[in-house]
Amino acid sequence: MKADVIVLGAGIVGVSLALHLQERGRDVVLVDRTGPGEGTSFGNAGLIERASVIPYAFPRGLASLARYALNRSSDVRYDPRYIWRVAPFLFRYWRHSSPRRLALATQAMLPLIEASVAEHDHFITAAGAGDLVHAGGWLAGWRTPAKFEAAQRDLADLAEYGLAHDILDAAGIGALEPSLRTGREGLAGAIHWRDPKTVSDPGALTRRYAALFERRGGRIAIADAATVETTGRSWTVGLAQGPLEAPQAVVALGPQSGALLKRFGYSIPFAVKRGHHRHYRLPPDHVLRTPIVDEEAGFVLAPMTKGIRLTTGIEFADPAAPANAIQIGRAEAVARRLLPLGEPVEETPWLGLRPCLPDMRPIIGPAPRHPGLWFDFGHAHHGLTLGPASGRLLAELMTGETPFADPAPYRCERFL
Ligand SMILES: Cc1cc2nc3c(=O)[nH]c(=O)nc-3n(C[C@H](O)[C@H](O)[C@H](O)COP(=O)(O)OP(=O)(O)OC[C@H]3O[C@@H](n4cnc5c(N)ncnc54)[C@H](O)[C@@H]3O)c2cc1C
Repeated sequence: MKADVIVLGAGIVGVSLALHLQERGRDVVLVDRTGPGEGTSFGNAGLIERASVIPYAFPRGLASLARYALNRSSDVRYDPRYIWRVAPFLFRYWRHSSPRRLALATQAMLPLIEASVAEHDHFITAAGAGDLVHAGGWLAGWRTPAKFEAAQRDLADLAEYGLAHDILDAAGIGALEPSLRTGREGLAGAIHWRDPKTVSDPGALTRRYAALFERRGGRIAIADAATVETTGRSWTVGLAQGPLEAPQAVVALGPQSGALLKRFGYSIPFAVKRGHHRHYRLPPDHVLRTPIVDEEAGFVLAPMTKGIRLTTGIEFADPAAPANAIQIGRAEAVARRLLPLGEPVEETPWLGLRPCLPDMRPIIGPAPRHPGLWFDFGHAHHGLTLGPASGRLLAELMTGETPFADPAPYRCERFL
């Protein structure tokens, strides 16, 4: 079998890239060990985060660090037996989170964030996936009045980005989402970010994009990316029906990208931030239409096809260890104060792995030492948001078009 490009990994990043390459006339085969949208892209919180212009930084305040060190928070948790293994990564992440470097990361990511909704819209229309996507934005909520006031003061730092938003007091929240509890036991206030879109089944959205790719003549193969080899001039992957060969291959394996890169001699500071989800039923007469992020406890409550999806913040633990209920339990205890959640839908939580680089931006571009090999991974907290924009940028680079954004901040060489 021959193709122009083999894309390894059919998460939102790989599928979006495959569509962009196909639109530029390339014959693409998407290779995945399970199928489209079964990895991290299956279970995220569904926010196309047009409002998250500042990347998710490592906390630098002493009070926050002391709180996280106690390891009782719901937004960040670590396994004490594992944390030392990511200590070098965390140190680099901490350094890149200084105000000056965070400002650089923000500028670097801005073109992709700004393009995120428009690039999704392009595929949503073509894939007929409008039923999965909502244009109502999301709510950032605070329970402590002083923290809500501080958040409103911090809005001044975001003024230059022109983000559409409303500030909601308890009555405003009640008018928009009557089932959310406000007041002493519930929310003190919220910021309603109106530019983002939200997805009611992110795995299904990835599969719809993949179905569009197939309808347009693209091929999807089930195979292990670890079989990839190079002759120096072309790339091959072992499929059940024989080898697949192409002059170009792309690593879009999300959290599993680091392992493959090591095999080709690239030592990249790569880490995984684990996150869990679980769905809950809502009692009759209750409804939630707008996802809400509890900014103090670091979880999201998002209305999804299967129920209200509760997604957790960050867990540093062995990516290969099974899902656990520790963080979801902590988040659930707070979430029940905001919304009358019923029984969980699943017996055990789902586990997802966020693919992260310490300077808070993905690697998008050519492999420095292997002609024909390209990288598109490391989208961390915003892979759903960034998949289509990042895929467009890489497709433009691979086909020699003028890229819509400066690719320099995403080059792999920054780590070598
Ligand atoms: C709890 C949680 C909430 C989140 N919420 C949001 C959100 O609201 N908004 C947002 O923008 N982002 C969110 N994210 C982040 C987002 O989900 C990820 O950044 C994104 O899904 C990464 O996509 P990907 O395609 O790079 O990786 P994946 O979706 O993991 O895709 C990688 C693919 O590679 C395949 N693969 C791996 N190894 C092999 C192999 N050896 N051979 C063949 N195939 C292989 C896998 O099967 C998989 O399909 C969240 C993440 C988590 C965990």
